[in-house]
Amino acid sequence: MKNIVLFGPPGAGKGTQADILKHKYNLIHISTGDVFRYNIKNETDLGILAKSYMDHGDLVPDEVTIDMLKAEVNKNANANGFIFDGFPRTESQAKALDDFLLKKGETINGMIALEVPDEVLIKRLLNRGLTSGRPDDQDENKIRNRFKEYQTKTAILQYYFQEQNKYYGVNGVGSIDEISERLSNVINNL
Ligand code: AMP
Repeated sequence: MKNIVLFGPPGAGKGTQADILKHKYNLIHISTGDVFRYNIKNETDLGILAKSYMDHGDLVPDEVTIDMLKAEVNKNANANGFIFDGFPRTESQAKALDDFLLKKGETINGMIALEVPDEVLIKRLLNRGLTSGRPDDQDENKIRNRFKEYQTKTAILQYYFQEQNKYYGVNGVGSIDEISERLSNVINNL
């Protein structure tokens, strides 16, 4: 199996790139944000809970998110590997993912981070908010809170994966094709 964590702040292009790479490498793409939004749309208990956090740009509590992630992986027992997009976002999520995969005899092969300056991210998110219908993309205060969550809880994961020699930074500014190419160069060597 090839298991990849696609990492980076909101608006870095993780979803766009995961959509391309999943076809190229025959991997299952799991976006925790997408799974939450699906649950919100279908008004499930999980969706109602998640919405109260997501609408403010806050992270959903770890326990709920970790259980949901495990269920998504288990739904795809025969997968060739996974692209994790938007997970892990905290150290306890990272540890839970490692333990969970270890029990299956699997591991994360690499964390690939899309590096994009903040000003570019804000422009991209506000622009996406015009068509995405996502309340958390439409308000600059919510976007800034998402960055704050990223800086305080998520960015440290770089060191968690660096310690395991699994961290790869990639320039996330450029055309979609250029960035896929950069990511592919890393994935081909994992
Ligand atoms: P995303 O689509 O990845 O930008 O995620 C949108 C929102 O979903 C985030 O701002 C969080 O509220 C929630 N979310 C997604 N993934 C996670 C996660 N791994 N841990 C906690 N909250 C998450």
